Amino acid sequence: MFDVIRIPAFQDNYIWLLRNGAAAVVVDPGDARPVIDILERDGLSLAAILITHHHADHQGGVASLLAHYPCQVFGPAAESITGLTQPLRGGETIRLDSLGAEFRVFPVPGHTLGHLAYYGAGCLFCGDTLFGAGCGRLFEGSPAQMLDSLERLAALPDATSVYCAHEYTEANLRFALAVEAGNRNLQARVDEVAVTRAKGLSTVPSTIALEKATNPFLRCNEPEVIASAKSREAGVDGPLQVFAALREWKNSY
Ligand code: ZN
Ligand code: FE
Repeated sequence: MFDVIRIPAFQDNYIWLLRNGAAAVVVDPGDARPVIDILERDGLSLAAILITHHHADHQGGVASLLAHYPCQVFGPAAESITGLTQPLRGGETIRLDSLGAEFRVFPVPGHTLGHLAYYGAGCLFCGDTLFGAGCGRLFEGSPAQMLDSLERLAALPDATSVYCAHEYTEANLRFALAVEAGNRNLQARVDEVAVTRAKGLSTVPSTIALEKATNPFLRCNEPEVIASAKSREAGVDGPLQVFAALREWKNSY
């Protein structure tokens, strides 16, 4: 199996490096430099790159990594991905021998239409789909697609570690609290995250259990969440409309 190493990039991105002995796989290398620094420092060789979606902060480092380390590049067939060698549509299981691990590939359209999530060894790499206490913006997909994608991820085991691609949790929690002030688990997470961030530490990974308990976008059936959505948009009815109202609200929050 593998260890997961966090590589901060840009303002608030995380590139995830999966390490097994001297072999490494990176997820969403938006920038090559910090990845190469770690590979060289630890004497690792890059065996594969996993891409969740086409945005530059997730694939901008691929060309430069390939110049140093020719390797397989897995990513969405439906999107324009630099150096893509293993196009995926979602529904596949991929085996990464270098890690001794298999990953299930989920189609999770919403943030982008071809967006993929990778799930293996109890770890979920979900790019800009599910965030700590939030979800990605709908740049390409519909609310129905995104809700469906989030529900697919929420159905994973409670203990699943959620490795998203941005440190957005604290800001997301401010919105979550505006939606569901009476949620005790949410209040506890707000306190915990404030301490974590004050120490300069990361809030990622979280778990599926924690997201189900505190992430408003996974709680569209909860009475307080429904009531908040209705207070923003009269006539909101059913989880999909609740989700769409929350996503709209968050865009301008
Ligand atoms: Zn993105
Ligand atoms: Fe991003």
